[in-house]
Amino acid sequence: MATKEEIKARKTDIGPPHYERFLHPIIKENYGKWKYHEILKPGVMVHVSEDEAKIWTVRAASPRLISTDFIRMICELADKYCDGYLRFTSRNNIEFLLADEANIDPLIADLGAADIPVGGIGKSISNIVHTQGWVHCHSAATDASGLVKAVMDELIDHFTKMDMPAKLRIALACCINMCGAVHCSDIAILGLHRTPPKIESHDRLRNICEIPSTVASCPNAAIRPAFIDGKKTVEVDEDRCMYCGNCFTVCPAMPIADPLNDGVSIWVGGKVSNARSAPKFTKLAIPYLPNNPPRWPEVTDAIKNIVGIYIKGARNYERLGEWAERIGWPKFFDLTGIKFTKYHIDDFKYAGTTYRRTTQIRG
Ligand code: SF4
Ligand code: SF4
Repeated sequence: MATKEEIKARKTDIGPPHYERFLHPIIKENYGKWKYHEILKPGVMVHVSEDEAKIWTVRAASPRLISTDFIRMICELADKYCDGYLRFTSRNNIEFLLADEANIDPLIADLGAADIPVGGIGKSISNIVHTQGWVHCHSAATDASGLVKAVMDELIDHFTKMDMPAKLRIALACCINMCGAVHCSDIAILGLHRTPPKIESHDRLRNICEIPSTVASCPNAAIRPAFIDGKKTVEVDEDRCMYCGNCFTVCPAMPIADPLNDGVSIWVGGKVSNARSAPKFTKLAIPYLPNNPPRWPEVTDAIKNIVGIYIKGARNYERLGEWAERIGWPKFFDLTGIKFTKYHIDDFKYAGTTYRRTTQIRG
């Protein structure tokens, strides 16, 4: 029987290796002993420990879907300037970790030569986190990397400069399964289907799908077992469908993608941070914008508009949701020129518990 030590030393493919193995030695030595950090210039910060140990971070953008050539290139830069240490943040920024301050500017120069922007720290927009989009996922209602590229091309100055009232986080998820952080970002781009799934053919459905698991896949009980031409299949109660696409994941004979009706919604005001106010979920701002690849002008214009008005109106360190709550959501809609529609009213059966129940009115 293997000893405890032998089991510990085993390499397996079950779960990721322990993160501690990959920490920079300065971080390992000062773990839990950090005194403060300071932003030195856009994209550059220093962490200082109780023992006055320092580690510098240079944050750079990544295109999120990255090639092996790109990975090799950033690893070479990490070998050259960072003793091989870099990491990715949860929003896919690349962070180079430097033990020597003298390496900061040469690293930034090399990143510049490779057209990789440096920034995204502090009062700026960081990399946009996104899901898989048309490249990978079967249930995408919009593209992820293409749309994010179009948005970030318009906002890149807010990545490389710290000219925002506070940090601004943008996320994209390409369907309402929301693999991305869209529920807790300042601005969220969320792809949505607007039509129920279509059964391609009952024969195909019978041959490739399990009827009980297809029925069970629907969170709204919109799928029922049925007999058509004397054979077992399913039918969809379209009035109950919320266009989530869950059934298509289980049964590929029920595609939901619809090039004419699928599109994008915009949500605002979420955050993960506990600073100054509690974490918040995003709220619906724009219920529908068309998919208009390759540059999605309607979506990029809408986001630029919200960002511009937020910059003009927010106080120092005020996150987008905090600003909207301070001025009041009706004012948010007035200032941004976004129409308030019936789609903004939550009609979920437990929505009443979330409604404002005070008689106090704020304009
Ligand atoms: Fe797929 Fe939806 Fe996740 Fe996008 S958000 S990757 S479409 S499950
Ligand atoms: Fe049910 Fe969602 Fe499929 Fe509609 S799209 S039938 S709600 S699983």
